[in-house]
Amino acid sequence: MKILVLNSGSSSIKFQLFNMEKEEVLAKGQVERIGIEGSAIEYENMEGQEVEKDIDISNHRDGIEHIIEMLLDTEVGILENIDEINAVGHRVVHGGEKFAESTLITDEVINSIEEVSSLAPLHNPHNLSGIKVCQELLPGKPQVAVFDTAFHQTMPEEAYTYAIPYEYYEKYGVRRYGFHGTSHKFVSNRVAEIMDKDKNDLKIITCHLGNGASIAAIDGGESVDTSMGMTPLEGLVMGTRSGDIDPAIIPFLMDKEDLDTKEIDNILNKESGLLGVSGVSNDSRDVRQAAQDGNHRAELADKVFNYRVRKYIGAYIAALNGVDAVVFTGGIGENAAGVREHILDGLDNLGFELDPKANKVRGEEREITTDDSAVKAFVIPTNEELVIARDTENIVENK
Ligand code: AMP
Repeated sequence: MKILVLNSGSSSIKFQLFNMEKEEVLAKGQVERIGIEGSAIEYENMEGQEVEKDIDISNHRDGIEHIIEMLLDTEVGILENIDEINAVGHRVVHGGEKFAESTLITDEVINSIEEVSSLAPLHNPHNLSGIKVCQELLPGKPQVAVFDTAFHQTMPEEAYTYAIPYEYYEKYGVRRYGFHGTSHKFVSNRVAEIMDKDKNDLKIITCHLGNGASIAAIDGGESVDTSMGMTPLEGLVMGTRSGDIDPAIIPFLMDKEDLDTKEIDNILNKESGLLGVSGVSNDSRDVRQAAQDGNHRAELADKVFNYRVRKYIGAYIAALNGVDAVVFTGGIGENAAGVREHILDGLDNLGFELDPKANKVRGEEREITTDDSAVKAFVIPTNEELVIARDTENIVENK
C-alpha cells in the first residue's frame, strides 16, 4: 500500500510518500512560503535525486497540485499514475476531546475538526484545507486524520483540569490536551521494543525537545500527563515559546507596555523562550555557540531550558511513582549530547548514571546510561510521519 502523508501548515506543506510493504519513504519534501513571495518546492526521491524549484504557490491547492506533479514527474517522479496512491494521512494538530485516536475522514469528522478549531486557530484551519484540497484532487481516496492531541486523551481528570472556574471547561473546553502525541507514542512504543519489555509493564518519560518541546509521563503505554496544555505554549522552554510562566505576568505586561491580546500572545509564542532570554537565536545550536563564546544571556537561556526539563522529569517520576526509562527525541533531544548531559547530570540521586561515551551520539537509537544505571535513558529519533502512515494503513485496511 502506498500512502501519502501530509502536514499542512499555514505557509508550508510537508509531504512523504510511503511504501508500506517495507515502510520505506519513496519520496519526500515540502512546499514553502505558500502565498508569500519566494514560494518554492523541495523534493527528493529514494534514489537521492533532489529538485528545488522556485514557483508561484498561492494557496494549499496550488501546493498539493505541485506535490502531485513532482510525484508523477517523468524524470524524478516515482509514480506513473496517481491511482497508485492508496490513501492519504493528514496530521491534524487539535482533536479536542472528540478524538482519542486516528480516524477515517468523513463530512462529520470535518465538522468536528472545524468545531475545535477555535482551540488551535493557527493550525487546524490549515490542516483542514489540506484535507479538503485532497478530497478534490484525489476523489474517492480514503483519507485519515491523525491528531497531535489524541495520544494524551488517556490523561486522568486531575492531570488535565486547570484550577480556574469549572464553567470555562464546560463552556469552552479549557483544559490540558497536550501535543506531539504521535512522537510521544512512537518513541515510547519503540523504547519498550528496544528494552524487550511489554509496554504495559513500563513507566516511561519521553522528552520531545525541538523548536517546540514537550515531555510526557507514560504508564503502561498510556499518557498520564504532559507538559503542553490547552495550546502548545505551556510547559518546557522552547525556541520562541515561554513555556510555564506566572499567569499574572500577562495582565502586568499588558498594562505596563500597553499591549493588546494579540501582541502579548505574539510575545509569548514568538519572542520568548531561547530567543527571548538569549537575544541571540531560537536555534539551540546558535545559543550554545554564543554561550561558549562568553555570552551570559545565551548561557542563561541554555541553563533555563535544561533546568525546566530536569524539573519536569522529577515531577513526572512523582506522577508515575517511579520510572524505568527516559527517552530523548526531537532535534535537540536527538542531537545535543551536552543538553542531555546537563539534564541527567542533576539526576544521579534519582537513579540515572549517564555513560558519557555512549551519550556522544547524534540522531541514532542508543542507550546512553551505564549498565548499572537503575533508570535507563535512550536517544530515539522520532518518526511522526511513519506513525501517520501506519495509522492510515491500519484504518484503511480495517474500514
Ligand atoms: P526540531 O524542531 O525537532 O526540528 O528541532 C530543532 C532544534 O534542534 C533546533 O533548536 C536545533 O538547534 C536543534 N538541532 C538540530 N540539529 C542539531 C544538531 N545536529 N546538534 C544540535 N542541535 C541540533
